[in-house]
Amino acid sequence: MATLLDGRRLAGEIEARLQAVIASHATQLGRPPGLAVLRVGDDPASGVYVANKEKACARVGITSLGAHLPADTGAEAVLAAVRRLNADPCCDGILLQLPLPPGLAEGPLLMAIDPAKDADGLHTLNLGRLLKGEPGPRSCTPAGVMALLARHGVALAGQRAVVVGRSILVGQPMALMLQAADATVSVAHSRTTDLACLTRQADVLVVAAGRPRMIGAEHVKPGAVVVDVGIHRSEGGLCGDVRFEEVEPIASAISPVPGGVGPMTVTMLLVNTVVAWCLRAGLDHGLGDLVP
Ligand code: NAP
Repeated sequence: MATLLDGRRLAGEIEARLQAVIASHATQLGRPPGLAVLRVGDDPASGVYVANKEKACARVGITSLGAHLPADTGAEAVLAAVRRLNADPCCDGILLQLPLPPGLAEGPLLMAIDPAKDADGLHTLNLGRLLKGEPGPRSCTPAGVMALLARHGVALAGQRAVVVGRSILVGQPMALMLQAADATVSVAHSRTTDLACLTRQADVLVVAAGRPRMIGAEHVKPGAVVVDVGIHRSEGGLCGDVRFEEVEPIASAISPVPGGVGPMTVTMLLVNTVVAWCLRAGLDHGLGDLVP
C-alpha cells in the first residue's frame, strides 16, 4: 500500500509554524502580516478559492486586505489598485486571482506587482530568480509539492523525475525546483510522443496536465512516487489527473485529490506572505526549508 502524501495534514503543521513566527514578531513589528487577494469579476471557481485563502489567513493571523472589483473594471483601474497595494505599508503579499475577465491582459498586471510582495511567485523577476537559484518568493503550487516530498522523506538527488505539463504556473517552475534538488528532470507536454514510455522511467512523477484521470497504471513504474497536481470538478466530486485507484496499488507514495497538493498551494501563499513580512523588517523567519 502506498504512503499517502497528505497535504491537508502538512498544511496544518505549517500553519502552526506560521502562527508561531507571527506571534514572535508581531509586537516588534507593530502589526500582523497582510495579504491582498485582488479579484476582478465573478468567476465562480475563483470565488471559492478566494474564500479559502481568506479563511486560511484568518487561521494563522494574517490580515486579508483584498479587493473585489467588478468585471467591467478597465486595465488602468486594476493597475491603480495594484499600485495602491504596492504602496500600502500594511500589505506584504499581493495575489492577482486568475483568470481575469476577457479583455484584461494578465501579463502587464502581474508585472506591476512589487516583486517583493509577489505572494504567488509569478513575477518575471521572481521566476528568473528561481532559474538562477537566487532567493525570492516561489510559485506556490510547485513549492507546495517540494514541501510535501520533503516531509515524506522522498529523496530527489540522482533520481529520475518526470513532470507532465510545462505551464508557467506549475510545470516549468516544478521542473526547475526538482532540478535544483539534483533530480534528473524530463518535462512532457501535449506534443510528447509515447508519454507512457517516458513516465514509466520516473522515480518521481508529477502530473500537471489538466486532463482528468489521464494517468493510469500503464504510465507508472512500480514503486514510483506520484504527485497529482490536477484538480477537476466532476459529478462524483473532485478528481485529479491520475486514476488514483489504479495507481495507488503500484506506487510507493501518492498524493490524493482532494487533500494533496491543493491545501499546500494555499499554505505556500501564506508562507510567502510571512517571509516577506519578516524580510521587510530584516527579521529572521526560520522558514527557509519551505522556500525551494
Ligand atoms: P495548463 O496551463 O493548461 O497546462 C497544462 C500543461 O499540460 C501544458 O503544458 C500542456 O502541454 C500539458 N498537457 C496537456 N495535455 C497533455 C497530454 N495529453 N500529455 C502531456 N501533456 C499534456 O494547466 P496548469 O495551470 O499547469 O494546471 C494543470 C492542472 O493543475 C489543472 O488541472 C489545474 O486545475 C491544476 N492546478 C492545481 C493546483 C492546486 O493547487 N492543486 C494549482 C494550479 C493548477 P502544452 O504546453 O503542449 O499545451
